[in-house]
Amino acid sequence: MSNQRIRVRFAPSPTGPLHIGGVRTALYNYLFAKKLGGEIILRIEDTDQNRYVPGAEDYILESLSWCGIHFDEDVVKGGPYGPYRQSERKTIYKQYAEQLVQSGHAYYAFDSEEELDQMRERLKHAHAQQAQYGPLTRLGMRNSLTLSSEELKDIKISGAPYVIRIKIPENEEIKVNDLIRGEVVVHSSNLDDKVLFKSDGWPTYHLANIVDDHTMAITHVIRGEEWLPSAPLHVLLYRYLGWEDTMPKFAHLPLLLKPDGNGKLSKRDGDRLGFPVFPLQWSDPGTQETSSGYRESGYLPEAFVNMLVFLGWNPGTDQEIFSIGELIETFSLERVGKHGSKFDPEKAKWFNHQYLQKKTDNELADLLIPILKDNGISPLRDYLLKVINLIRERANLIPDLWNQSSFFFEAPSVYDPQVIQKVWNPAVSKTISAFAEEVKLLSDWNNDSLHRLIEEFITSHNIKMGQLMNPLRLIIVGCNLGPGMMEIATILGKEEFIRRMKTGLERLPK
Ligand code: GLU
Repeated sequence: MSNQRIRVRFAPSPTGPLHIGGVRTALYNYLFAKKLGGEIILRIEDTDQNRYVPGAEDYILESLSWCGIHFDEDVVKGGPYGPYRQSERKTIYKQYAEQLVQSGHAYYAFDSEEELDQMRERLKHAHAQQAQYGPLTRLGMRNSLTLSSEELKDIKISGAPYVIRIKIPENEEIKVNDLIRGEVVVHSSNLDDKVLFKSDGWPTYHLANIVDDHTMAITHVIRGEEWLPSAPLHVLLYRYLGWEDTMPKFAHLPLLLKPDGNGKLSKRDGDRLGFPVFPLQWSDPGTQETSSGYRESGYLPEAFVNMLVFLGWNPGTDQEIFSIGELIETFSLERVGKHGSKFDPEKAKWFNHQYLQKKTDNELADLLIPILKDNGISPLRDYLLKVINLIRERANLIPDLWNQSSFFFEAPSVYDPQVIQKVWNPAVSKTISAFAEEVKLLSDWNNDSLHRLIEEFITSHNIKMGQLMNPLRLIIVGCNLGPGMMEIATILGKEEFIRRMKTGLERLPK
């Protein structure tokens, strides 16, 4: 195996949108493979036809491509080990299930749903440790281990539906070597005789996954911790199929946890606390319910990926900002932790802020232009660049570029009532009126001249700076937010500034 080329896979099931935990799994696989000069493949695991959701596969492909995670072999590109969609490989799995029956490691089971329910009931009443199909129960059921060869022949001829189950060994310790957790030992009494092949002609996840990892020459299985309980079964399958020598190495990644509390991060946490748990927006084809995505919320893919990589891995230094190239150089499974990682929505914004600040004014302008267009605004480039330069530091997400600057493109149509209450009254109206007259007389329109004018005005009217500036901001911006008044005034220009004062004085209480 040492000379073997590294090959990893990301193997999602198209059962809905890809959770950010899934994207992280794909990312770690990608970084691991690229660092070691290996290959990463995308395999679609769609053998569970009941859980198939239309649109989910396209969603997965688009999400990963948005993140810059590109595959060497996948369902679109193809490759030497294709097809890469399990439904298109359907015919290859049965022979392996049959091979396991022949070698005595699996058996046919004919039990109906009813019989299975009765078994579970019986075991529950007997207070059995486990109410499962396994070493202790299989001999009381209808399967190829209990039926005579005559009965078996008849039942097969009758065409009765059957499944193929693995025969879990009795009293055996199964070791899983995990690159992150070390050796994990599970006693076979904790395993059950899982179905490998279903009566509808489809393999289950376990069989298809092992057959594909083997036939696709996968060397490392890097996946979420939720699959760790299945790993002993997978080890047995490799052994029983005679593939133990080339069994991939396992690495089970720690869970992504809720920002508050200890459970696994779920869509409900996102809804509750107001952040997306999906990379892209998703509309459920069944319920029509729409879930928000990082892309649509205004995150840059580089920032999203940088945020994600830190949920379970750290570089061992203080460096936090990594390009994808730097991540490929730096990433290693040794620095992936065992413990779950709490998701922090504020930190996600922080990463995006850092990446937005790295962009030039021109690049940020290009991000803002589509939003301006949606609002029917097409400013001159020069004006736009001045605005961007002034407000850029205040933006965490792309829409903030608009939220922080909209008043440069549209005069206030309403004035914040709370601010009116605080800073406006008839006396103030007179002050602003007087100030407007002074402004009209100003010949130079720049920071310095405005500053001088304001200083002189407050001295001669014997008022404090705030008594002028707060109402002035209300009248120009519509609320009490925004960057420095002088900068705003300079960019807006004298004409627009005077126009807004006039409108405000007309519309605000006199
Ligand atoms: N199809 C499984 C999933 O949806 C893949 C698990 C694995 O990587 O083995 O996550």
